[in-house]
This record gives sequence, C-alpha cells and structure tokens, in this order.
Amino acid sequence: MSTARTYEVRTHGCQMNVHDSERLSGLLEDAGYVAVADGDQADVVVFNTCAVRENADNKLYGNLGHLAPVKAKRPGMQIAVGGCLAQKDRSTITEKAPWVDVVFGTHNIGSLPVLLERARVAEEAQVEILESLEVFPSTLPTKRESAYAAWVSISVGCNNTCTFCIVPSLRGKEKDRRPGEILAEIEALVAEGVSEVTLLGQNVNTYGVEFGDKLAFGKLLRACGDIEGLERVRFTSPHPSSFTDDVIAAMAETPNVMPQLHMPLQSGSDKVLRDMRRSYRAERYLGIIDRVRTAMPDAAITTDIIVGFPGETEEDFEATLEVVRRSRFSTAFTFQYSKRPGTPAAELPDQVDRAVVQERYERLVALVQEIAWEENRAFEGQVVEVMVAEGEGRKDAATHRLSGRARDNRLVHFTPVDESGATVEVRPGDVAEVRVTYGSPTYLVADGAVVSIRRTRSGDAWENRTAPRPAGVGLGMPTVGVPAPLPDAPACG
Ligand code: SF4
Repeated sequence: MSTARTYEVRTHGCQMNVHDSERLSGLLEDAGYVAVADGDQADVVVFNTCAVRENADNKLYGNLGHLAPVKAKRPGMQIAVGGCLAQKDRSTITEKAPWVDVVFGTHNIGSLPVLLERARVAEEAQVEILESLEVFPSTLPTKRESAYAAWVSISVGCNNTCTFCIVPSLRGKEKDRRPGEILAEIEALVAEGVSEVTLLGQNVNTYGVEFGDKLAFGKLLRACGDIEGLERVRFTSPHPSSFTDDVIAAMAETPNVMPQLHMPLQSGSDKVLRDMRRSYRAERYLGIIDRVRTAMPDAAITTDIIVGFPGETEEDFEATLEVVRRSRFSTAFTFQYSKRPGTPAAELPDQVDRAVVQERYERLVALVQEIAWEENRAFEGQVVEVMVAEGEGRKDAATHRLSGRARDNRLVHFTPVDESGATVEVRPGDVAEVRVTYGSPTYLVADGAVVSIRRTRSGDAWENRTAPRPAGVGLGMPTVGVPAPLPDAPACG
C-alpha cells in the first residue's frame, strides 16, 4: 500500500485560479504527494482562494473552521491557503486561523511544496507573499484535468484599473510570456495528445505590451495555426478597448481558431462604463461585434455583465438590455454587483438597493435566455462538430447521453447512436458530427443522430491515460469540457 501523503486542492474563482490549481496539483505530485481518493480526508488540503466575491473571506474562514477539529484529530495533517485572498489578507489568515500551516500568494505558487516542508520541520506556520512575479507560473509542472484540452497562460496581471476589480492590486501589472515559449509549450502539449488549447490572460488583447509589439496577439493566433495536430484554439478574455482589427483578421483567417468570442461587456451604459473606468463605450463594443460577425458569420459571442453597479439607473440598465438585444449573445455570465473589498467602487455612493438589483438581474437573465434559445433553436436539423468531453456528468445515466463542445463552444448532449439506430463507439477527445434534434436555452441535443465519428490522437491519449503514469503526469477526474469551465468569478475581473 502506498505511504505517499495525499492532497486535495479546493478552487474558488476564475479560470486563472482553475489553471493555477492544475499547477499546484502538478507541483505536489512532483514532490511525491498523490491525489486523495474521492470521499477520503487528504493529508494536505490547499485552498486556492478568490477575493472577488463579497463574502469570499467568510467562506474561507468557514471552511477553515470546519477543518480545525479534523486536523486536531489527525496528526501531520497540513492546511495551506493561496490565491488572491491570501495575497490580500496575508498573515491575517494565520492570526484568525492559527491551525493553518502555509499561506502563499499569487506570485509564488511554486513555493508550496517547500513551504509545506518548512512548516512541518519547523512546526510553525509559514507565510510567504511576494510583491511581484519571479517565475512565470507556466514553467511549473502542471497536472492537467483533461487529456485533450489545456489552458496555456500567455500573460498574468492587468494594467487596467476597472473600479470594481481587485485583480490589478493582487495579480500585479501585466507580464507577458515570450511567444516562442508559449508556442513551445503548446507543441509539447500537442505531442502529449492535446488537441484544444485555451490561451489565458486577464486581457489578451494587450499581450505584447511588455515587449513592445502591439500586434503580438494576432501573430500568436496565426502561429497557433501552424501547429500540426492542434485542432482547436480558443482564448479568454479580450478587453473591448484594446481589441484591434488585426486580431479579427487573424481569427477569421486561421482555421484552427474557433468561431467563438467571449468579450466582457459589463454594462451597456456609457455612464456606467465611465464609472467602472472601462475606456470603451457601447458603440465601440457593438462595432467590434459587427466586424467579428462580418468576418466570421458563424461566430458565437458570449459576455460578462454586471447588474446594479453603484449609480446604475433604470435608464442605464435599459441601455444594457439594448446592447444585449443588438449583440445576440449565445450566452452571458451575469453577475449582481456586490462590493468587493479593496476596490474603488466599494466606496462609491449610490449603491443600488438589493431588491432593485435582483429585479433587474431577473429581467436581464430572461432576455439573455430568450435570445439564446432562439439562437439554439436555429440549429435544429443542422450538423455540428462536437469534440467529445470527459469528466463527471459526461454520461447521463437516464438518457445515456454524452456531452461535448461544438466548434463555437456550444454545449451539446448527444446519444452515441447513429441515424440507423446503431450504437457507435466514441472516446473523450474524439470528434463526432451530430445532427441537432433540439435546441434548449443553454445547450443543444442530438438524440440518435450521430452522422460520423473521427477517432483522434486525443482519444488515443485518453485511452492511454488509464495506464499507470509517472508522478507529475496527472490523470485526475477530468472536468474540462462539460460543462465548459464555469468558474465562480469572471476570468477578467
Ligand atoms: S476587470 Fe479585467 S480589465 Fe478590468 S482591471 Fe480587472 S482584470 Fe483588468
């Protein structure tokens, strides 16, 4: 029986944190820890925290409180807290919860194994927070959650100062990786069987600002097009102020860049955008969407919207609804504004009454769903290409449906049965063409309508993953794919 210490990483927040957690798992496995079995208590519990939500700290201290008696009964157990809240609260965490062993920040996730060891030997809590990044986190080992899909960081930090956002103060100024390093990482991933990558940055459109190339992001997309075996490229999140036409051209002219755009709107009111310190206006936002749709008529566009920002009037909210109507988003991640401690907006007067925010939120969600449903219904009878997903919920027990993502990132549930009624074999990472039988407000269904299956290298890689692996190469319970990585905070603030 293995005597290796077990670990569990609990993740809150955005895609950046989801990806950081993959690295924390990779680091721990490199150091000899093994992932804890479902339902068991881990020897090391790591919280990767988010500071975006109003009650993030209550949630963290509540979770830590639950673990205190568990730890008291389990000698040798360790608890670590990292991520944005740790960067913000620092040693307050060990003052409030003295049973925590390690606190680390957003700039030094690579130190976790060393800090755990130091805390164990010294029998004393270790708090290490750096003010800026020393090693770009993508150079750290990663335990990917998926055999066929991977996140690739192109930058961290952000040079903007949106008034509702805590990211700049916790993640620091934008730091860009060199294109050669990014492309080498993608090539290595493809060699391992990955066929889909999502390029990740707080503001991907300003990628290159650090090394003086304003066109770097478009060039990077085009360079991804030259990587043999890379079938799907996505990215998140772009910022409307810095979105340039060369990026639209690169998206349209690079076949493996998917016809999909997630571009945060936040508000359709120019006044609210100004108060949010977001330097674009509604017409600019709509202009980008028009140009994207002209270049890629089949592009699905999604967004993030905050309802009830301080000072938002009914007229401002109507302006948001109008942009939603004109944009025809395939979906929108909608958030009720809540004060985020440490942000300028938390100090603004005219905080909107909760009941008003709730009522507007419901109207917005209803409109988003109405449009999304119309869009999805238009797919009925059409054939879409689905990359089959993996992970819990992949197979619905009642319907025997599998799930995956269409090229435009729509979620598709399908039965592995062809149009003659025969069952077809398909593995996660393989590509199925299916005929849509029903479009719901949030996903497409294709029952008994598989048109073709293409076995892929990713499907082979998924099969091979069941073989024993060396430490640091993760199997894990994959979650990327279905539903799409839905963080509990937007990727960009
Ligand atoms: S919302 Fe996005 S663009 Fe604005 S400061 Fe935060 S991370 Fe930067």
